[in-house]
Amino acid sequence: MSKNLKILFVASEVNPFAKTGGLADVAMALPKALTRSGHDVRIVMPCYKSIDREKYEMSYLTDFPVKIGNFTHTCVVREGGLEMKAEKKRPRSRSSVPVYFIDSYEYFNRDALYGEAGDYPDNARRFGYFCRAALELPKKIGFKPDVIHVNDWQTGLIPLFLKKFYSEDPVFKGTGSIFTIHNIQYQGVFELQALVDLDLTWEYFSPKYLEFFGKINLMKSGIIFSDIVNTVSETYSREIQTTSAGMGLEGLLATKKNDIFAIVNGIDYDEWNPETDSNIESRYSVEKVSKKAICKADLQKCAGLPQNDVPLIGMVTRLADQKGLDILARAMESLMKLDLQFVLLGTGDKQYIDMFSALSKKHPDKCACFLKFDAFTAPKIYAGSDFFLMPSRFEPCGTGQLIALKYGTIPIVRATGGLLDTITNFDARTHRGNGFSFNEYNETALLKCVEYALTIFQNRQMWNLLIQNAMSCNYSWDSSALKYVELYRKAIAKQTPSGADSSGALDF
Ligand code: ADP
Repeated sequence: MSKNLKILFVASEVNPFAKTGGLADVAMALPKALTRSGHDVRIVMPCYKSIDREKYEMSYLTDFPVKIGNFTHTCVVREGGLEMKAEKKRPRSRSSVPVYFIDSYEYFNRDALYGEAGDYPDNARRFGYFCRAALELPKKIGFKPDVIHVNDWQTGLIPLFLKKFYSEDPVFKGTGSIFTIHNIQYQGVFELQALVDLDLTWEYFSPKYLEFFGKINLMKSGIIFSDIVNTVSETYSREIQTTSAGMGLEGLLATKKNDIFAIVNGIDYDEWNPETDSNIESRYSVEKVSKKAICKADLQKCAGLPQNDVPLIGMVTRLADQKGLDILARAMESLMKLDLQFVLLGTGDKQYIDMFSALSKKHPDKCACFLKFDAFTAPKIYAGSDFFLMPSRFEPCGTGQLIALKYGTIPIVRATGGLLDTITNFDARTHRGNGFSFNEYNETALLKCVEYALTIFQNRQMWNLLIQNAMSCNYSWDSSALKYVELYRKAIAKQTPSGADSSGALDF
């Protein structure tokens, strides 16, 4: 049997401690799945002000100074854990995944994770500090990782720092690195000053390294210096190698073509499960799906909508362009003419907050919007809606549609990225499929798709079959976690003389 791995998993957000989107779901669920299969996973994340230290029973672990640029600040590390459900099959397996919180008053004692619009001016230094601290920590606690798994631009400097500052360090001898792109739109692009802030020399200001249209790009660092790069669905991995979706990095990705992999995200069914979810009005399962109606009535009540059986379309989303809100805006008045209700939970760009707030005032009997981030309202929408709408312009994987499937809420999606890979159009003839999708990115296609979906909703027999199909889909993490282990082993194999290649090698 092959050896269990020691994995250092580093992310800027982890559910339930801090979350703005799907990355937090992955950063919770994947380490849990890996731990269940016997690997020793340790998570490292920032200790944001919003994290409730008492609730999560965090305790002091250690502290040490961390220098980045011209500044040295004390890093206090607190330890907590991601609780795991006890498993009858494996009674002696671990009950939690250790989480190390990097606490720095200077950098993380702030209201938002990344800034109101994702843009604290010192974000390069904040996350540079986080990356240095995440690499110092294993030395302090005697944890010798076989592999370091880093995620998105906030952790993109780790593979570079590993090569530049720690190549001779025995703790990291033989350590492989893997960088996961969860969303290529957010690249961590900073002014030139970031080089100084991050202890990097001028040589890095080259297109071969971090230079990007005259600036410094931290996602490039992750792509160039890690042993393996992956993204979160097959279709998205192809899309980002094209000019239409690569956001300027398609050329670089093409040069790493053979080291770019795709593993579709799963969801954690301990967390998202209508049979056990304590946030919803009634628990239900694929066998007792009629109880979903109680959740619908509860959602309508919470949203101030009439309690009847018109089809209810739900959305839980960041309010960002990526999510298809411009085509939805243009379709909204036509949608409001149909016999349906619409409930949205979301926060983000002001233009969309204003738009949804105006729509709910104009159509109080049909449209209700909760314009905030709220982990308790989200399950009510997943359980209480009939349809879950994701008209995304692009979608690396998407978590919402996977959660919706589990709750028997039928996804209506634009066929892009992970939405294309996970949702197949319901075929009224064969009764196959788990949702509805449209190809063209425009309001006409969206409307047509909704109208077709509503005809299936009216046919009770077909509708029930569709719900069965949706709830029977299995997007648990088990098989995706195994694929990550394979990638980890590939990254580790590259550390041996025979597996070594020159990718990301420093030539100065
Ligand atoms: P992205 O990562 O691009 O935001 P995903 O679909 O992958 O999109 O993941 C979104 C995750 O964030 C889901 O778990 C969704 O339920 C959650 N979410 C998004 N907006 C909110 C909100 N306003 N309140 C609560 N949860 C939200």
